Amino acid sequence: DQFKNMHLREELLRGVFAYGFEKPSAIQQRAIKPIMKGRDVIAQAQSGTGKTATFSIAILQSLDFTMRETQVLCLSPTRELAVQIQKVILALGDFMNVQCHACIGGTNLGEDIRKLDYGQHVVSGTPGRVYDMIRRRALRTRSVKMLVLDEADEMLNKGFKEQIYDVYRFLPPSTQVVLISATLPHEILEITSKFMTDPIRILV
Ligand code: AMP
Repeated sequence: DQFKNMHLREELLRGVFAYGFEKPSAIQQRAIKPIMKGRDVIAQAQSGTGKTATFSIAILQSLDFTMRETQVLCLSPTRELAVQIQKVILALGDFMNVQCHACIGGTNLGEDIRKLDYGQHVVSGTPGRVYDMIRRRALRTRSVKMLVLDEADEMLNKGFKEQIYDVYRFLPPSTQVVLISATLPHEILEITSKFMTDPIRILV
């Protein structure tokens, strides 16, 4: 399959080609469409497979630009990865006026609150700071429709399990969940059974 056959928004397809992608990778071929359709997806994939662009493209396709509320939350294990995801979303969404904020520890709290107050379609962050912003009511979750858990096994290794559950409790009950993980140990399967409905499992 090709990007141009995926029924992507014209501005998004332009962003994909401008970023230099010609052909979707294996995970992109298999996961973008189900995510766009609203399915819960478990992708067992390592970095280097094109996993970031997979959910970034699906996110950009699903955003409602008539409002500037947070519709997608991405959680990842490190500040660097959260910023990397933000950059990919902004680059692929270069023709779309997308607001995407990196909500990470070690940065100024007031600045974070100000950016969130302005309105962000997508928030990419680490679990601790994201939960902090939710508790402070700086990050509003009522319009969230998708939660992405990237490198979920790494997040558990870093001790973020409680914070992931804390964040999840604030999301609308019907929130779509996309989970990416290189491995699927017991604690990951516990998350998938608690957060997901009839998930599609993709191994790349
Ligand atoms: P990731 O698995 O998200 O860490 O991505 C690994 C690398 O593959 C990144 O440098 C991406 O820019 C690149 N990449 C992702 N998708 C494609 C694609 N369809 N064509 C060419 N490069 C890609």
